[in-house]
Amino acid sequence: MLRSMDAEPRPKRYAAPRGAQDVLPDDWPWWRHVRDTAERVCARFGYRHIETPVFEHAGVYLRSVGAGTDIVEKEVYLFEDRGGDRLALRPEGTAGVMRAYIEHGMANWPQPVRLYYTAPNFRYDRPQAGRYRQHTQFGVECVGDGEPHIDAEVIDLLVTFYGELGLRDFTLKLNSIGDQNCRPAYIERLREHYLPRLDAVCADDRVRFEKNPMRLLDCKEERCQPVIATAPRIANYLCDPCRHHFEAVQTYLTALGIDYQLDDRLVRGLDYYTRTAFEVQPAIEASQSALGGGGRYDGLIELLGGPPTPGIGFGTGFERIILNLKRQEVPLEPESPPALYIAPLIDEAVPVALRLADDVRAEGVAVIVGSAARSLKAQLRHAGQLRARNVAMIGRTELDGREVTLRDMELHSERRVSMADVPRAITH
Ligand code: AMP
Repeated sequence: MLRSMDAEPRPKRYAAPRGAQDVLPDDWPWWRHVRDTAERVCARFGYRHIETPVFEHAGVYLRSVGAGTDIVEKEVYLFEDRGGDRLALRPEGTAGVMRAYIEHGMANWPQPVRLYYTAPNFRYDRPQAGRYRQHTQFGVECVGDGEPHIDAEVIDLLVTFYGELGLRDFTLKLNSIGDQNCRPAYIERLREHYLPRLDAVCADDRVRFEKNPMRLLDCKEERCQPVIATAPRIANYLCDPCRHHFEAVQTYLTALGIDYQLDDRLVRGLDYYTRTAFEVQPAIEASQSALGGGGRYDGLIELLGGPPTPGIGFGTGFERIILNLKRQEVPLEPESPPALYIAPLIDEAVPVALRLADDVRAEGVAVIVGSAARSLKAQLRHAGQLRARNVAMIGRTELDGREVTLRDMELHSERRVSMADVPRAITH
């Protein structure tokens, strides 16, 4: 709720909130490259765009994401609106899309339903390089088919996307975390392993031991590594259906020529994940560096009140992708400067300049109109700063003759061109 503005000490100026950042025009080509590549690849795989609200009823996340996860316990932005509804800003993409799947009866659409989104997420996290309080994810969800070839398809889509972006040398890590049939027995064994060693592990691990034991396996603390190294391996506890599923996923990935590394320490933090879990690490690895990750969540839709429905998806962050594209010096198509700068030299030339600009823009050309309040010299300098290829000057003489003086900024040549001929003159 906004309090009286007077109650706030008035700062001289504001900066963006901690962990949130502006995308400035110079950075936009990177963002557009990521977004356009995502859209192009999704279209080819038959994934259709979905957009869900930035906020949801808090229960959508609190019920689905599960107890004992950082996202719910520490990171979700919760608020009450003016009507008293308890809402949450989206911390991750999947739960809202599943809410929409149930709400719109997508179970009656041809299955599986293939969806994708690019959307901002919000997590009250400790900001650092590659970790922000607002970040943007490209994610896909394939809902309604639990067969292993779907897992391979989703991973294929992610790997194709990175490849088309120009990312190199990334590593795909793969694991199966079992399901409700086999995981409980594994977790019991994991707890037995940790129980006599709880004094040796970090404080966070002691909480995980109680609330989310699978997460014990991806603890990054030095002192916990020996305990992880000797922990029982989930691969040895998978039930037959989970093992067959996992083997099939690997067969399909191999058939697709997709390299992967098995990593039985790869666990997803969220309770609704089942079976396949995967993550992509960039060439230069840091603890917060996962480029993207996902997995199967066959238990999620039921948790949200829908019929039992299998699903799998991934999320990958724009900011980390762009960090890596820049690090790898992936070349981008340069942004084209305006093809034409129109410099009105007297006030009466302004309406003519505005009109001429529209006529030229109608040909699909970028045009900037200068200001008659500035001198010709200042307008030429401005056109140069904007790297405009041509400048059309309109003074008294040009106005009377319905002409412009067209200056080619590269060749430093000038010629008179009738206004009607300007589009042709600058595009040829
Ligand atoms: P998650 O939803 O935690 O599985 O994250 C999926 C992907 O989203 C990660 O691999 C990152 O690329 C990105 N991501 C997650 N959290 C953040 C964050 N706090 N800041 C920036 N990117 C993030």
